[in-house]
Amino acid sequence: MKYMTALQDSKRLPRNASIAFHLAALLTFFIYALYRLTHDDLFLFTLFSLALVPISISLGLEIKHRGNILHKQITLILVCITIAISCYSLGYKSLIYVFPTIFIFFFIFNFKNASSISSFYVLICLIAALNIETYSLVWRFGVAIFDCIIFAAIFAYIIAKQKAALIYLATTDELTGALNRKNLATSLSSSIESFKHTGTDTSLLLIDIDHFKTVNDTYGHLVGDKLLTQFSEVIKQLLPAEAKLFRFGGEEFLVQYEHCDLQKALEMAQRLKQAVNQTDFDGVPVNVSCSIGVAELRINDSLEEWLKQSDIALYAAKKSGRNRVVSRLDK
Ligand code: GH3
Ligand code: MG
Ligand code: MG
Repeated sequence: MKYMTALQDSKRLPRNASIAFHLAALLTFFIYALYRLTHDDLFLFTLFSLALVPISISLGLEIKHRGNILHKQITLILVCITIAISCYSLGYKSLIYVFPTIFIFFFIFNFKNASSISSFYVLICLIAALNIETYSLVWRFGVAIFDCIIFAAIFAYIIAKQKAALIYLATTDELTGALNRKNLATSLSSSIESFKHTGTDTSLLLIDIDHFKTVNDTYGHLVGDKLLTQFSEVIKQLLPAEAKLFRFGGEEFLVQYEHCDLQKALEMAQRLKQAVNQTDFDGVPVNVSCSIGVAELRINDSLEEWLKQSDIALYAAKKSGRNRVVSRLDK
């Protein structure tokens, strides 16, 4: 669960890595501030000392578990401004510090912003360095630093792709392509929070295929598997983007439909039921039906209560003859 949260938070820099980055920056600026002092360069001493302030604040917040992505972004920008200014008076001696900062961009900005902001930053540093360096030296540094941006971008792109693939594999049911139950509790809890804070309606549709065991027993398990895959496709095609489809159990599916009150949920449930009725499932020459229990979220519902109410409604739909939709029964 912990790893899934880390994976899904796309811009998250692990806390330990973030602390290591901060310490490295702190140490570097501290040493250079002292070094400039010994050279009676009061301007750069002051500049590097000032840079220690945002880095220290950011480190402190990170240590106290109160770090967020915005303060890291601001800190990095301030560090970059310091380096750019120092390039003006130190030339290549400061340009070399552009290399490590570029990689950090790709950890704390999204891909597009990291590419554009780091390119702009490099350009400013190179122009500043021209103050004391020759064109040929700045040109050489420029090529090497832009190569570095490209490598960092490729690296970030590969990691993002692998992350997406990992999230897909970890959260998707292989047979049906619906979401598995890994993130179900987190997802439903977030709906409960939204309902409490912003009044956003969310409804659950618990769907169970009728007499599915008979399909397995009559036409074989493989035909049953195929039916589950096709069933999930039929449902997904009718659901809007704000509805998530989970495989809840063997032949039971759960729709979490956000921005959806009871009325809308019942209409959707009827549409899903009809679509299933009208579908010719491969290898199954008889009509397939499903029963659906609908439960809109109510203000005092816990996660368990909300799910339980959809299950009670589904049970009632089964009991009253199957192939029907029933809404939650409690008042
Ligand atoms: P009801 O109308 O009351 O829902 O009856 P049912 O037969 O659909 O329900 P029951 O719970 O008796 O049977 C569900 C069956 O689903 C039993 C189980 O073998 C089968 N099943 C569960 N997972 C899978 C799967 O991944 N593939 C296949 N082919 N069958 C599965
Ligand atoms: Mg069933
Ligand atoms: Mg069942």
